[in-house]
Amino acid sequence: MAPFKLVLAALLIGISPSITLSALDQSTTAQTPAPAPNAAALPRVFLFATGGTISNKTGGRLTVDELIKSVPNLERRVTAEGEQFTNVASGAITMDQWLSLAQKVNDRFKVDQGLAGVVVTSGTDTLEELAYFLHLTVRDVRPVVVVGSMRNPSTTGYEGVANLEDAFIVAADPSARDMGTLVVLNDEINSAREVTKTDSRLLSTFSSRDYGVLGTVFDRVAIFRKPVRRHSAQSEFDVAAMTALPRVDVILTYQGAPGDLIKAAVDNGAKGVVIAGAGAGATSGTQGEGISYATEKGAFVVTTTRAGAGGIGGGGRGGASRRIGGDDLQPVKARILLMLALATTSDPAEIQRMFREY
Ligand code: ASP
Repeated sequence: MAPFKLVLAALLIGISPSITLSALDQSTTAQTPAPAPNAAALPRVFLFATGGTISNKTGGRLTVDELIKSVPNLERRVTAEGEQFTNVASGAITMDQWLSLAQKVNDRFKVDQGLAGVVVTSGTDTLEELAYFLHLTVRDVRPVVVVGSMRNPSTTGYEGVANLEDAFIVAADPSARDMGTLVVLNDEINSAREVTKTDSRLLSTFSSRDYGVLGTVFDRVAIFRKPVRRHSAQSEFDVAAMTALPRVDVILTYQGAPGDLIKAAVDNGAKGVVIAGAGAGATSGTQGEGISYATEKGAFVVTTTRAGAGGIGGGGRGGASRRIGGDDLQPVKARILLMLALATTSDPAEIQRMFREY
């Protein structure tokens, strides 16, 4: 249709001619595709795919290459490469594989100084644990972004592609440097230290609760605050030479809880036990006896709260005590810090310092 006829038609149906004309302008420019960006000038991001719902398509899991190809026009924003690390549920990944992944990410940053950042896909169930482990063990200022999805690729409303695109955008963005490991889902950027899966079904499940998000990503990255605790480039935890992580178990406090579960953990090789205590760290039943047994056997006992927020102070028992305050860490994250601490030192004062600093 000739332009003047379109304008006339628009006037007749009550649409402003300027809108109609700008629509015409766009259809003219749409015929000339924007020049492809120079690939050499784009930020490069490396993806380690580990599995989880984000790749769990009915009939076979998406590979790392299929994940990269699933993001429309990604090649216009970043140059992506990847490695299939594992392709399993998050809970199936072993501690040895965690170590190996952290070593690989460190190595990748070391050999490729021009790399902008790293993305790691993960199942969401234990995603926050892997993310905090990487937060403490990848010793580089460049961002590591952990991402997953709640719906799988065979489900209506699969949000994995949008989350993955956001993860690449954040990993490529200079403003995400020196923030440690970031968890990006649902357009939100959270710190690995603070984020928790709070709902077994909702897409909005990942939350840093009272701490709030670090930023958002709606096509571009907006950062509102930075983590202040030690992480990544300032971390003292060097996994390069670690071959195994010491066993640390988490034990919940509940009414009348038996202390023999704590004894059993230590008798089965635990070097540390994290108590998810009630309120401000109270135990129940005979847990006090179990804790005394553990510390007499040389194990460390970190007290956290099962309340979901708040914290447990530490150091009040003196430098030699193997009773450590877990501060505001969630019990599963206190376990990760204690594993790394015990792989590094057996000095109680040092371990309490680490719980204050990380
Ligand atoms: N079961 C899955 C996993 O953690 C759940 C998910 O990815 O959302 O691997």
